[in-house]
Amino acid sequence: MMEATEIATLAPNFDLIEYFAGNGSPRFTSLNVGNPAFFKTVNEQLSGAALDDWKTYLRWRTLDTYAPALSQAFVDEDFEFSRKFMAGQKEIEPRWKRCVRSTDHSLGMALGQLYVDKVFGPDSKARTLKMVQAIEQAMHADIGQISWMSNTTRQRAYAKLNAVVNNIGYPDQWRDYSTVIVQRDDYAGNSRRAAAFEVKRENDKIQKPTDRKDWDMTPPTVNAYYRAEMNDINFPAGILQPPFYDKEMDDAVNFGAIGVVIGHELTHGFDDQGRKYDAAGNLQDWWTPEDQKAFARRAACTADEYSSFVAVKDDKGEVHLNGKLTLGENTADNGGLKLAYLALMNMIGDHRLKPIDGFTPQQRFFLAYGQIWCQNVTDRQARVLAIVDPHSPGRWRVNGAVQNSAAFQQAFSCKDGQPMVREPACRVW
Ligand SMILES: [Zn+2]
Repeated sequence: MMEATEIATLAPNFDLIEYFAGNGSPRFTSLNVGNPAFFKTVNEQLSGAALDDWKTYLRWRTLDTYAPALSQAFVDEDFEFSRKFMAGQKEIEPRWKRCVRSTDHSLGMALGQLYVDKVFGPDSKARTLKMVQAIEQAMHADIGQISWMSNTTRQRAYAKLNAVVNNIGYPDQWRDYSTVIVQRDDYAGNSRRAAAFEVKRENDKIQKPTDRKDWDMTPPTVNAYYRAEMNDINFPAGILQPPFYDKEMDDAVNFGAIGVVIGHELTHGFDDQGRKYDAAGNLQDWWTPEDQKAFARRAACTADEYSSFVAVKDDKGEVHLNGKLTLGENTADNGGLKLAYLALMNMIGDHRLKPIDGFTPQQRFFLAYGQIWCQNVTDRQARVLAIVDPHSPGRWRVNGAVQNSAAFQQAFSCKDGQPMVREPACRVW
């Protein structure tokens, strides 16, 4: 946290006070500066690069942002560079898909309302909530059994877990977009006005109480998230469909897919970053020094393990994953897999469920997990992702987590020394 007067000194070459006044934000006295080094670097670049270069760069940034909303020549050029050259996409998406994506981006909560009415019934919400609660119970039991944690830290971990807010499907209240002017003949203008609406909506939160019911993702989004400052887990309706969640499937498959995602988000509250926030979402240390050391030792095992994995190997050479960059996500994957499995076992109980298609429930749990991370990526894109993406590539999200899992080895009768049996296995949680 910094005082407003201090902020100005971070980057004297860039008048931040003037900037805040100009972008319409209300007056404020203090600010959470998430990345002070960013402003230091910008400050150096401002005097380091020629003014003409800055003009070119900023002009390009503006064009790059609006290109998909401009005329055909801009749309084509944008696709050629960003999607085809960089990401290896062979052809541009059909117009209807781009339109839906654009509407989701600009007016997502309005689109989401229609989406939810059509595809996401109250029964889906109820069954998901049941899974979330089963996984939270599994975590509670798991925390109780951890040998490396003192009772003091354990009680605080319980408190944090009990305070987690579960947001499922869609927000309780829909957003009011009535001030956004939409014109049939002004596509780029529409997206600009929608973006301005969003900036204003965010600015209006300043100096107001925290709204833990405000969503960061729109309901049609196929994704999920944990917010450390809110201590909440959020599952938009869009992810509650196959292959993540299928109401026609039994628990083994759904726990292996969306169940692991739920456990993943929950574990984020206790990964290398999330553990630094308390139950109320404040950046506050609740760990005893010994437990902190034990956590760091376990996390280092995971970081080293994933650093040994190869993201891409081609004629340009080999790129390894960055174990430190991906530590939080890998911790969440490993923890999520464990919690979802425990929850499934609690659900099955003593019932000896019959195999389906020749696979036991335990095996189908892991097969479902493998299927959610099927992906297709070019070597060029894989190189970019290995440097910038805090998530491991799908292959290692699966193979990295299962080789640490005793339950996986048991389910498939793997023996010591085989590729999917890691020695020593890394387990933070
Ligand atoms: Zn994550």
